[in-house]
Amino acid sequence: MALYEINAASKYDDPTFGTKESESLLPKKVMPQQENDPSVIRELVKDELFLDGNARQNLATFCQTYVCDDVRDLMNLSINKNLIDKDEYPQTAELERRCVNIVANLWNAPKTGNPVGTSGIGSSEACMLGGMAMLRRWKNARKAKGLSTDKPNLVCGPVQVVWDKFCRYWEVEMRQVPMETDRFYMDGPSMLSQIDENTIGVVATFGLTFTGKYAPVQELCTALDQLQKEKGLDIQVHVDAASGGFCAPFCQPDLLWDFRLDRVKSISASGHKFGLAPLGAGWVVWRDKSYLPEELIFNVNYLGGNMPVFQINFSRPAGQIISQYYLFTRLGFEGYKKIQSACYETAQFLSNGLDKMGYFDFIYRGDPKEGIPALTWTFKKGVDLGFSLYDLADKLRSRGWLVPAYSLPANAESIVVQRIIVKQGFGLDMASLLLQDFARAIDELKEHHPVKALGADHGGFNHN
Ligand SMILES: *Cc1c(COP(=O)(O)O)cnc(C)c1O
Repeated sequence: MALYEINAASKYDDPTFGTKESESLLPKKVMPQQENDPSVIRELVKDELFLDGNARQNLATFCQTYVCDDVRDLMNLSINKNLIDKDEYPQTAELERRCVNIVANLWNAPKTGNPVGTSGIGSSEACMLGGMAMLRRWKNARKAKGLSTDKPNLVCGPVQVVWDKFCRYWEVEMRQVPMETDRFYMDGPSMLSQIDENTIGVVATFGLTFTGKYAPVQELCTALDQLQKEKGLDIQVHVDAASGGFCAPFCQPDLLWDFRLDRVKSISASGHKFGLAPLGAGWVVWRDKSYLPEELIFNVNYLGGNMPVFQINFSRPAGQIISQYYLFTRLGFEGYKKIQSACYETAQFLSNGLDKMGYFDFIYRGDPKEGIPALTWTFKKGVDLGFSLYDLADKLRSRGWLVPAYSLPANAESIVVQRIIVKQGFGLDMASLLLQDFARAIDELKEHHPVKALGADHGGFNHN
């Protein structure tokens, strides 16, 4: 008897590699006809994901990339729960309702009013709902006066793409105050120049996508108060506080940007950005239910409570909302403040480190009075190291860091910037390693002069 038989399956064979599945290509277009070994396919799919890079080194995204074990546990527990099934899962609906209350209070919704709000899959849905309510309020007010509703417009500064989507999907003219090379946001005068009787509202971005800085919400509201006094136009404000909505309340509580300003009628934010929830959570709140036109609300009679069903999606995972409630309760105000403060500290540490290198000018360097935990910089005027910020971003990628370089929007396209968003889990130790990689990348690029060698103009540092 042979000790072992060649070509016969043995319990000592590697269960994954060397199998027929692992020796074939994964399907690209057509579903395979036959079943395949689950554990092998699971391994192969996981292996493909190596090419994705490491989320924790993604310094481009505003979204959370750190997930604690407790949240994993809650997500796992709720993986088969549909948030919309409020009769099946009444307690999940209750946690959502509590979250809305917590968020409304965090944003100083008037104690005397009757604020309403809802969750969304992210800020995009939350903004869309805020925009739809604004459009409907304007239409209703115009119709009541017998005026035309044919030409609605929305006034905003540089915004996240969701507002371009809103305007295109709902056929609203977008009146966007462009950036200028010496002004990266919409201020009072530039806003007023766009407003007329067809303006459905103003969107103020509290944590600008391009720089991380806060729009001057109070200044905008004061300018609109003045406008109403002079011309009788009552223009209302939605604050898109996707990231700032969970930073300023903890780290700059005296800054006026929220419902303490009467003109602010609705606010939206991403739970999954500085709200610290896992991906798939957004919030929108109206200061009073009178600002959410009733015809937009679908009252589901089994719901019974005061949470209106006003959402775009129907089915949605419940885990994010449950985790958000856990985080609000587990961390509390002080916990959020500690986490966000640590992020600001890292952002400042990084900007000081980069500043010392002598090549960069900062548009924003992580001051909690001015914006979210982030930093944005460009090459100093006159500095020509022979490579662009795009080259630097590429070089950092070789160590796994995602530090995006991009040109600012109109009319500041000539300025190319690089930006880091500091999130929970990116502390001073990691930041110091990143600074070392910056120094190494710059040294290597200086040596190789990619721009000059290629004769290409990457336009990365020419901003005069
Ligand atoms: C991220 C962001 C959005 C979109 O939010 P999602 O949660 O990604 O859908 C909208 N507005 C601003 C200002 C943002 O930063």
